[in-house]
This record gives sequence, C-alpha cells and structure tokens, in this order.
Amino acid sequence: MPTSQFIAGNVLSASNKMPRQINRNLIFNQIRIRQPISRADLARCSGLQRSTVSLIVEELAERWIVEGPTGQIPRGRRPTFLNINTQRGVLALDIHPSQTALAVTDLGGNIVAEQIVVPPENPKKVVGAIVDAVREMIAAHRNRSFDGIGINLPGRLDANLEKFIFAPNIDWPIGNIKSRVEQATGLPVVADNVANACALSEVWFGSSDGLHDLVAVSVTEGIGTGIIANGRLLRGEGGVAGEFGHVQLEPAGLPCACGNRGCWETIASNRAGMRYYAELAQKPSPGFDELLRMAEAGDQIASAAIEKMGRALGRGMHMVASALAPSEIVVVGDITTVWPMAAPIIESEMRRNRLVRVPRLRAARGGSQARLRTAVALVMNENML
Ligand SMILES: [Zn+2]
Repeated sequence: MPTSQFIAGNVLSASNKMPRQINRNLIFNQIRIRQPISRADLARCSGLQRSTVSLIVEELAERWIVEGPTGQIPRGRRPTFLNINTQRGVLALDIHPSQTALAVTDLGGNIVAEQIVVPPENPKKVVGAIVDAVREMIAAHRNRSFDGIGINLPGRLDANLEKFIFAPNIDWPIGNIKSRVEQATGLPVVADNVANACALSEVWFGSSDGLHDLVAVSVTEGIGTGIIANGRLLRGEGGVAGEFGHVQLEPAGLPCACGNRGCWETIASNRAGMRYYAELAQKPSPGFDELLRMAEAGDQIASAAIEKMGRALGRGMHMVASALAPSEIVVVGDITTVWPMAAPIIESEMRRNRLVRVPRLRAARGGSQARLRTAVALVMNENML
C-alpha cells in the first residue's frame, strides 16, 4: 500500500507552472509506477496541488485510469485508490530489415502477446503480410480496447512522419506502411524512427520529469540517435535532426548505404561487429546474436570483435557528447545484452578527450523488449496532447 512515508523523499521537481501535457504525463506515470495510489499521495509525490491532481485524474479517468477499492486510513475520509486501466492496450510494431516484431502491450508497457513476422520473399508482399498479422493480433485480443498502434521504423521519415524518405537498410517498399496499417485497422497509428521512439520512451517510462537532456543511441544494422533537449524531442528542420550515424568518421572508410564513406554506422553497427569477427577469424561471422553469445562465453576472437565495435561506438558517442552535452546517453540494441563488457570500452573511448563532459551511459530499460515498449510511449504521448 502506498503511504506518505514511502513517498516522502521522492518528491519530483514538477511545478504547477509546467504545461498541462507534462503534468498529465507526470500524473499518469506516477499512477503507473505507484498504483494503487490515492489522489492525496499523488499530490505529495508529484509536487502538484491537490486540485490540479484531481482535475487531471478526472481527465485521465475517461479512458486510462480506473478507481479501485477504498483505502484504509486511521481517521478521516477513506481515499479511493487509482489504477491504470488494464483493459486498454497498445499494439507495437518494431520493424527490422529482416523481420518485424509485433506485440500487444498494456499501458504499463508490459508485453501481453508477441509474434515475429518474417517477410515473404516477394518484396511487394511484405507490407501486406505485416498488415494481416496486425489484423489477426487485434482479433485475438478482442477483450482489449486499443488506444493506437506505435510503429518503430529503422530509418528516416518525412517532416509529417507520414512517409519514409530514407531507409537504406530496407529492401522492400515500406514507404506507406503507416497509412496501410491505419486503413486496415481504423486505429490511430503513430510512427517514428526507432531512435526518436526510444528517446521518448526513456522519458515516458523513466521516473525523470522529462526535462533533462538525453540522447538515445539505437545500435542495430545501422545507428540512429534520438535527442531530447530541454524536455522535448529535437526534430530539426524537416525532421532530420540526429543523423550522427551518417557523420563520416573515416574518410577512407568503407562505402555506406547513404552513398558516403566511413560513416559512424559503417564502423560501429552490428554489421561492423560481424565484419570485425570475419576479418579476425578469417571465416564468415555467425549472426550477431550468436557473436554476442560467443563473446560472453569467452571466445577471444568474438570478444576482440565486440571490443573493436565498442571502441567505434565510443568514438561516435564522443562526437554526440561534444555536440549536445546530454546528461545521459542511453543505448538500445542487442549490444546491451553484453553491457558489462561493452560499457567500460565505450566509456573509456569517450574519456579520451578531457574537454568533453562525459555523460552518464546506460543501457535502455526493459532489455530486449525496450523497442516494443516504445510503442506505448509513442501512442500515449500523442494521446496526452
Ligand atoms: Zn552513411
């Protein structure tokens, strides 16, 4: 049971002068983290006035919050406890070049059901296969009301977040996936590139007030960054901010899918890690998951390949830290499964230049499911507007 003692000392730095949306996010998240919780305790832990809390709870109660049983306190009026509505949910789509993960999550970001869609060989049929899987997933969860669908995309969208304009690692026509899913389901669809979605998710699911500066670095077949600056996602002119993955670090390096040479992602992505292994071992690399398992099991060549990839990641993050001075860099991707091995390498590389303030470095919350949880952040963030 939440008590005032439990909450004391955890007062967040919200103020009644914050925009309404931030306060709604804050209250929703405090209910999510501390449920069941009374309005009075919400006021205490959020730092908001009781009347503001009651007003926000009333708004949220239309859909996302339910009132639970009445609490027991020694004297005075018995408070009503609030909980997140477990009947509501979000559909998550995490699109990779080689597969799409599809999941139903509750509003707390817990995965209720998960499925992998392997793209059919004919590139023209890939979007149709994803749309079919989405329909089936919704049909299998009829007892749940969906607030929307969040899609993580491995590439760059246009300024309206409608169409793909740059997805160098995808070889099937993904451009109109947002509208296709919207038409097929009638649900609102929020799409964003995976790094932005991860940055938003860290703020949404973190206990932070969303005001500090944070950069999410997504490491997969490519590298993307999502930037939270002054409490907001930094999109830049045309929505193309954060393309650190395509900053050239090695002018004489390998060709990149973007047409340039030696971009950060050519030396620090999962594919780079596999290439390092193949070069060192003089034989083809296993898949990246297997490479990580081998490194963890003590295979020297696999460890050396991961170390080289880690150093390259650190070089790029040094650039990110120099440019933005975030308080945190959060890494999302398979590399976080060997985090105790990778983190010190990345950090030592960032420390090489003393002029740069080294940010806190950590792996995204939620491990391998971090990318699916971002869908909740995408959809709920939109809903809270
Ligand atoms: Zn590039």
